[in-house]
Amino acid sequence: MKTDAIRMRSASPLATGDPDGHIQLHGLLDEAACDRLLSERELTLRTQIREVVAADVAPRARELDQSHTFAHDSYQALAQAGFGGLLFPRRWGGTEDTNVAYAVAMEEIAAGCAATSLVFMTQMHAAYPIWQAGSERLADRHLPGIIDGSAYGALAITEPDAGSDVASMKTRARHDGSSDIYRLSGSKTFITTGDKANVLVCFATVDPRLGRKGITAFVVDGDSPGLTRGNPFHKMGMHGSTTAEVFLDQVPVRADHMLGSEGSGWQVVMASVVKSRISAAAQGVGIARAAYAATLAALRAIHGRTLPPEALFALADLRGQILQGRLLLLATARDVDHADNPSRAQIGIMKQTCTDLGFKVSTAAARILGPYGDLADLGVERCVRDAKVTQIYDGTNEVQRLLVGRETTKQLEELE
Ligand SMILES: Cc1cc2nc3c(=O)[nH]c(=O)nc-3n(C[C@H](O)[C@H](O)[C@H](O)COP(=O)(O)OP(=O)(O)OC[C@H]3O[C@@H](n4cnc5c(N)ncnc54)[C@H](O)[C@@H]3O)c2cc1C
Repeated sequence: MKTDAIRMRSASPLATGDPDGHIQLHGLLDEAACDRLLSERELTLRTQIREVVAADVAPRARELDQSHTFAHDSYQALAQAGFGGLLFPRRWGGTEDTNVAYAVAMEEIAAGCAATSLVFMTQMHAAYPIWQAGSERLADRHLPGIIDGSAYGALAITEPDAGSDVASMKTRARHDGSSDIYRLSGSKTFITTGDKANVLVCFATVDPRLGRKGITAFVVDGDSPGLTRGNPFHKMGMHGSTTAEVFLDQVPVRADHMLGSEGSGWQVVMASVVKSRISAAAQGVGIARAAYAATLAALRAIHGRTLPPEALFALADLRGQILQGRLLLLATARDVDHADNPSRAQIGIMKQTCTDLGFKVSTAAARILGPYGDLADLGVERCVRDAKVTQIYDGTNEVQRLLVGRETTKQLEELE
């Protein structure tokens, strides 16, 4: 076999083919080895979310991508169906589900529309630190709205000169000596939903000389005086999700809107990235699945039910890779459910492997389809564009390798 690109010159109808017809093929990747790892509740949840995704999320994905429209309606469908607070206590509208259930849900949403999954996960990323480190009053005030979808949240860590190196952030929080007010000044960049968030979990330093020991987290109301936002960036992918700068000029924040205490923001970041890396990894598996399903749909449209051997070979490779990624995702999420202190290296391996999977499978699918992989209507080129950023955010994949490398060095030192 000289190439695994499938010849389909006679397939011009594909150029205007049904872009969402492939959704029904997703069930073909339900592997028994993975399903056995899921509880009855997790399997039921998957079925329920898959129904909402098929009805209200996937059919909008191409249009949102092409028109660069925020995935408000798609996200609202998920929130109104009761999926907006999977990990959260019932008292705030959550469903107290497992991290595995969350990973399964994220995979389903990403398989239908990756940008909607980015909106969905950002809601969780904003709500989680409020639940974990905020007062009950703060949680009562903000969690119900984020969970039921009536409010949008954002997690604002990255700055123009501080992304991977979080500890070098420059946004300052200065205590106004005469009152219980802190004033936040600085700028944040690449903030998902940052242009429209009603509430932002914003990280600042009380003293840059303290490095990570100065980092402090605050809950900032979106309509605070002194808070302004940039226009959403024009991006390669994830067009249904917005990414923007946020500027803070002496923004007053009450001391009781601090998460934890002065200097405890680093712990808040570290607890948050465990969840956010599950989110990104699940996106990788979901996008890989979408690329596989789109490829299978295209091949079926050309060849009918009997695919040529070279197509079956190529699909077998992709299916095997997706199975491996999903097993790693579910096993790591299950460990996070049970371990008091889950291994950061293991989480890094999951994040890196599963997001690399999304990009690799998408580009392989584009190669298999030859020129048809380039057509927007088939959805594979969208998978390639959407997958790329999952390798970058929530800790770049180089940073994940760095974390794993540190653990390897430690292991070697302990051997001596
Ligand atoms: C679409 C999108 C959405 C985002 N959403 C959010 C959000 O909601 N909230 C938020 O706070 N941030 C968000 N980010 C920011 C994102 O998390 C950061 O861009 C990312 O962590 C990388 O940090 P950086 O931008 O400083 O890049 P840098 O750290 O400058 O990285 C540049 C390059 O250098 C590499 N590199 C960096 N350090 C090392 C090292 N020590 N060893 C080897 N290589 C290294 C990186 O891997 C990368 O390839 C988002 C980004 C994007 C693109």
